[in-house]
Amino acid sequence: MNQTKSYIADKVAEMKPSGIRRFFDLASNMEGVISLGVGEPDFVTSWSAREAAILSLEQGYTSYTANPGMLELREEISSYMNRRFHVEYNPKSEIIVTVGASQAIDIALRAILNPDEEVIVLEPCFVAYAPLVTLAGGNPVPVQTLKENEFKVLPEQLEAVITAKTKAIMICSPSNPTGSLLSASELEAIANVAKKHDLLIISDEIYAELCYDEEYTSMAAINEMWDRTLLISGFSKGFAMTGWRLGFVCAPEELTQAMLKIHQYSLMCAPTMAQFAGLEALKSGSNDVEDMRKSYRRRRNLVVQSLNDMGLSCHIPGGAFYAFPDITATGLTSEQFAEKLLMEEKVAVVPGNVFGESGEGHIRCSYASSLEQLQEALKRMKDFTDRYRQ
Ligand code: PMP
Repeated sequence: MNQTKSYIADKVAEMKPSGIRRFFDLASNMEGVISLGVGEPDFVTSWSAREAAILSLEQGYTSYTANPGMLELREEISSYMNRRFHVEYNPKSEIIVTVGASQAIDIALRAILNPDEEVIVLEPCFVAYAPLVTLAGGNPVPVQTLKENEFKVLPEQLEAVITAKTKAIMICSPSNPTGSLLSASELEAIANVAKKHDLLIISDEIYAELCYDEEYTSMAAINEMWDRTLLISGFSKGFAMTGWRLGFVCAPEELTQAMLKIHQYSLMCAPTMAQFAGLEALKSGSNDVEDMRKSYRRRRNLVVQSLNDMGLSCHIPGGAFYAFPDITATGLTSEQFAEKLLMEEKVAVVPGNVFGESGEGHIRCSYASSLEQLQEALKRMKDFTDRYRQ
């Protein structure tokens, strides 16, 4: 073959594979590993949702749905978002059902970005944000949130990086990987910066159902923010439906119709059987969600208390299912900590540096595992930190 040039686009060639994968691969080749590494619920989707999908197949619903998703599902999403989070979206024109929140983030970015426009991403954050901004032709501008602020951004940190090219701020509350939950007043402080500089906010609210101490506030419910918010959510976390690949995006009509153009050409629609499952989950799933929330809350309290007791200082995460302790007392970097912990104690966690610069010195421990597994993992982690603590 006479290949004279690279077939791979430069921006893809330059992209690093996800740092989380490397640890998954290492751990999957070992026996007896307890994984606190995964970012997904350990619960199985509720039976009623599974049954609804099975029934849809039995009844032969195997074709495409409308591009933005079944109207009945969009109507249910609309009333759910209103009931739970006090935000109003027209099911006919302001909601798109997507292939996971992942695709919702992708089409949101692609719909708004001209080449080289900038999106502020608040690190440590979900590993997909910056690569998706790049793939959409924009430039991610990282801002380092800090441990002393519980990894919540300060308005002056945003002001310091805003340029004429800034188009949007990407936020995530409760956050992966830190679990931090932004209060209404903290959201307002970010909103004021967005309003002052006429920016959009992409608000990743995928963990909104998993808040343990306070009511959730959506960015779109903050005064005058509805017009400039693209609200990302989905079924993966709150409804334990990661494998169904079902999410949604809510936004004002002009933005929604722009995203719909991309969605209809690239995906057509979200999987039909998954849409039936999602519809049922919204209709009848609130008790299941409540049970899972209670269970996560109990596990969070155990994990955070134990981590602090072993000298790995950790703020109380208000939501999601991650603890993000400081591991500097061991004298190890986050990569060294995660690698040694895996090799010596067979516990998998994710090194904080994969989520951004200020994640260094921390590890992400997911508590979406059974209490017994968590207890055993914490015992092993205590032995490990006792050995390394300086
Ligand atoms: N946003 C955040 C913050 C996440 O943690 C994840 C999944 N890890 C996603 C989006 C993607 O979720 P989905 O399964 O709905 O694509």
